Amino acid sequence: MPRHFDLIVIGAGSGGLSVAERAARHGARVAIVEAGRLGGTCVNVGCVPKKVMWNAASLAHALDDATGYGFRLSRQGHDWAALKAARDRYVHGINDWYVGYLAEAGVELIRGHARFQDARTVAVDGTHYAASHIVIATGGRPAVPAVAGAELGITSDGFFELERCPRRVAVVGAGYIAVELAGMLHALGAEVSQLIRGEQVLRSFDALLRECVTAQLQADGIKLITGTRMQALEPLADGALRVRHAYGELETDCLLWAIGRRPNTDTLDLTAAGVATNADGTIPTDPWQATNVPGIYAIGDVTGRYPLTPVAIAAGRRLADRLFGGQPQRKLDYEHIATVVFSHPPIGTVGLTEEEARTRHGDAVKVYSTRFTSMYHVFTPHRVETAMKLVCAGPEQRIVGCHVFGPGADEMLQGFAVAIRMGATKRDFDDTIAIHPTSAEELVTLR
Ligand code: FAD
Ligand code: NDP
Repeated sequence: MPRHFDLIVIGAGSGGLSVAERAARHGARVAIVEAGRLGGTCVNVGCVPKKVMWNAASLAHALDDATGYGFRLSRQGHDWAALKAARDRYVHGINDWYVGYLAEAGVELIRGHARFQDARTVAVDGTHYAASHIVIATGGRPAVPAVAGAELGITSDGFFELERCPRRVAVVGAGYIAVELAGMLHALGAEVSQLIRGEQVLRSFDALLRECVTAQLQADGIKLITGTRMQALEPLADGALRVRHAYGELETDCLLWAIGRRPNTDTLDLTAAGVATNADGTIPTDPWQATNVPGIYAIGDVTGRYPLTPVAIAAGRRLADRLFGGQPQRKLDYEHIATVVFSHPPIGTVGLTEEEARTRHGDAVKVYSTRFTSMYHVFTPHRVETAMKLVCAGPEQRIVGCHVFGPGADEMLQGFAVAIRMGATKRDFDDTIAIHPTSAEELVTLR
């Protein structure tokens, strides 16, 4: 007889840890299965080590900027290996912390790779466990294209293993990861080429953001190769790589694939449980995170919806509240999810793009936008533009989208996201007294 739990969670990343902990606090008997390191993508090869590198890259920019404020200094190299060692220690500390977190919550940790036996049972390295409810929170992994020599490249996982900054890097992709890692590598000293299929990066973002971030990447010295397709990667005698693409070729020391992620569903034996998947392997769920099989749920990146850490956490906690916390109506509202791209400077965005708003609300859309150089950058040798857009809809001009590119956008947006979620109108913004002198004040003084 397999051991029985109220809830088995597969995957101890952002989503899995959250649903397990919350369910256990509600009194459920919970087990969580993890094949790798506790914390999943975010902690080990995502948000956390990425933000450390972004902080380092931001410091590099600040050192360059400092000359404009009268400091006599120059960058004298960067000790990548020392930073990596400190970053790894920090991440390992979080891995260890999660062991205590689960124990303190009363969640049983099962180490190993889970596969479904049937709709109520999973096998982990030959041992069977059963539960009334099973949550799939297995996340995803970086995609690598079917291009000759693709295995010679690295992905974001490999980026976090680099012991030194490569002299030359080619980044392939136009999404979050490509933009963020290209920017960091450039700031920390690499010569960066970025190969993209379209003319601009961040295709799904508001046009103003796309335009500004694409221009900034180029102004910073990243060589953007647009409208191209990758054809092959070939090793060269000196350890470098030749990159062949539709419009030519280039030589590089490192190629980084950043072309999206694939869900970890292929080794779960989902058919044994009868769980359906989409063509891309993600698991479709209803608004309650339920799959097509009663008692089996999916949360986080594996669902393919808003693959962001706070979304996985929120979905997990709400599901636990609903299943074990006596809150039958609790579910995640996928509207108004704010997000930041850690470019240089960063992007902060929430709600509808102008294009989406016009599709949804037609002529009832009014847009306010501005572009300016922040006071900080008036004095720096390298000018960085700030751009802001408010998208309003309806006669009351309810704010349905807020898009910011510029220094501080990452920290600026959280508060605005609260106001917008509460239904703020342009009038509410206008009636809010500005904080001066800041860049954020422009958002409440737009005309
Ligand atoms: P994951 O965190 O991926 O966890 C899944 C876990 O399941 C893993 O630990 C895996 O080992 C385990 N697993 C898989 N299959 C099995 C199995 N069969 N048995 C047992 N265990 C299994 N999001 C943000 O919000 N902000 C950011 O700044 C940000 N930066 C990012 C930077 C990078 C480079 C990347 C790659 C992602 C970033 N993200 C960011 C996205 C964020 O990391 C993910 O959205 C989040 O980690 C998803 O959580 P999850 O629980 O769905 O999956
Ligand atoms: P994204 O979905 O953001 O971007 C992938 C991009 O790669 C696509 O937009 C596409 O751009 C391009 N692409 C796809 N296939 C190919 C191909 N064959 N050749 C060349 N380019 C291709 O994925 P990421 O991997 O960057 O990130 C995954 C997710 O992780 C993000 O969506 C985000 O939710 C999350 N994340 C969040 C971060 C944050 O919060 N700051 C940071 C990093 C990741 P196009 O179609 O224009 O060519």
